[in-house]
Amino acid sequence: MGASYPTKIILAFRSGGVCAIPKCGKHLTYDAKSGDDTYVGEAAHIRGEKPGAARYDASMTDAERDHVDNLLYLCTDDHTIIDKVPADWPTQTLMDLKASHERQVRQAMEAAFADVTFPELQNAVSWVANQAPVPSGSFDITAPEEKIKKNALSNGSRHIIAAGLMSRETVADYVEAEAQLDPDFPERLKAGFLEEYFGKRKEGHKGDDLFELMCAFAQRGLRKQADKTAGIAVLVYLFEICDVFEK
Ligand SMILES: [Zn+2]
Repeated sequence: MGASYPTKIILAFRSGGVCAIPKCGKHLTYDAKSGDDTYVGEAAHIRGEKPGAARYDASMTDAERDHVDNLLYLCTDDHTIIDKVPADWPTQTLMDLKASHERQVRQAMEAAFADVTFPELQNAVSWVANQAPVPSGSFDITAPEEKIKKNALSNGSRHIIAAGLMSRETVADYVEAEAQLDPDFPERLKAGFLEEYFGKRKEGHKGDDLFELMCAFAQRGLRKQADKTAGIAVLVYLFEICDVFEK
């Protein structure tokens, strides 16, 4: 089977686009200037994909094997090494490595909310300039907690949303400032996220998967941590104020 492409996007998002082997740190995402990013890293199985594969666990289902929790985002060289020399890379070592790598990525992202100011937001939403507006809709306000429940989001996503809300005022001020120069800006910003949101929903994604795919979308084309976090700040802002995600 192998991991699906959306699973790989989620894995890349959780991995900060970087190889999970400490000391490697190779950047494995091509940040596209237009359109979607390309994820060149490999979704390596911790517990092997097929009988005979490294760290294979017969008690797992195929769905569990291909789940993001059983995958490591690795460069080709490190993927080869962990599978060719499994004695050096047992399951627990890789699980620990994955947990600490993903935790560091999350912490770096959350810490950077403090660095999100107008220039970072400007970088994060520069694509809006080419976005067509949607027919004007309402910017309904829904309490985040209620919305989190309705969208079946777990603690990981909840954490990102809570951190993102720290930048709410900055994003709101920024959107307002842009709207002074370009009245369609808020609608086009919203349109870009809604297009992606409905597209992913149509593909059957929901809950945390959908949320993390949207996070990856919000960060596309961005490399600097503060810019990437600014993308998330915008997503969380829209999550709170409008129709992105189920109300
Ligand atoms: Zn590597």
